Amino acid sequence: MVGGVVAAVAAVARDLADLVLPRTCAGCGLPGRVLCPRCAALLTTPRAATPRRVPWGFPPTAAAGAYSGPLRPAVNAFKEQGRTELAGPLGTALALAVAAVVAAAPRLPGPVLLVPVPSSAAALRSRGRDHVGELTRRAVAELRAAGLPAEEARLLRRSGRVRDSAGLSAAARRANLAGTFRRDEAPPRRGLVVLVDDVVTSGATLTEAAAELSSGRRPSDAPVLAAVVAATPRRPPRTVSRGDLRVVPKRSENVRRPSSGRLSGPEVKD
Ligand SMILES: [Zn+2]
Repeated sequence: MVGGVVAAVAAVARDLADLVLPRTCAGCGLPGRVLCPRCAALLTTPRAATPRRVPWGFPPTAAAGAYSGPLRPAVNAFKEQGRTELAGPLGTALALAVAAVVAAAPRLPGPVLLVPVPSSAAALRSRGRDHVGELTRRAVAELRAAGLPAEEARLLRRSGRVRDSAGLSAAARRANLAGTFRRDEAPPRRGLVVLVDDVVTSGATLTEAAAELSSGRRPSDAPVLAAVVAATPRRPPRTVSRGDLRVVPKRSENVRRPSSGRLSGPEVKD
């Protein structure tokens, strides 16, 4: 009887909360859901994240979507405006990106370790929460439900002072971040190590974090990989480069690109 009353009160409280703070899509503002089906669909096609100038040492990285259009406000609402309910759809997107980058890597025994990129102490204080940790936990749950032996591994912490990177060039961002990550323990030699973060823009943060995780690893050890919810898209339309993952479909060996720039079909000997 009491349980029924409690449930009824909780239901009324939920309905009232929706009236006080109407639920709208964090991407496009459409009323109804935290992320409408149209905006959520933008997070279902994992792609290789390739910053405009790929920093040396940038880890192979998969992104669930492009950090542009409605996904920009959606990620920012989660990160900066306290819309924690977005951890569900964004964490699921992160799981998809992890699965994509793991599928491109050599098969290894052992777990898939998700290493969250730590926020600075100042950012944690001002946000009052660890938003990458929230995404990581959700992604681990999704991956495990899908049968992948995923685990969260907090191997990195932030040290030193970092200026706000907004407005800095890629090189300046890298210099700003140099030496800011500290590894508490070396990653286990078994299994895959996947750095996880919300977005990748210049690639400086992931490069720096990967360097710290990789130091001391043997060449035969699996490389450090990375996965993010969204990546800044490259413009003009991206071309395949060495920084890409093998998840990108390969051009058929029979197709040659002639000097005129037009694609031809299978090579014809003349
Ligand atoms: Zn929407």
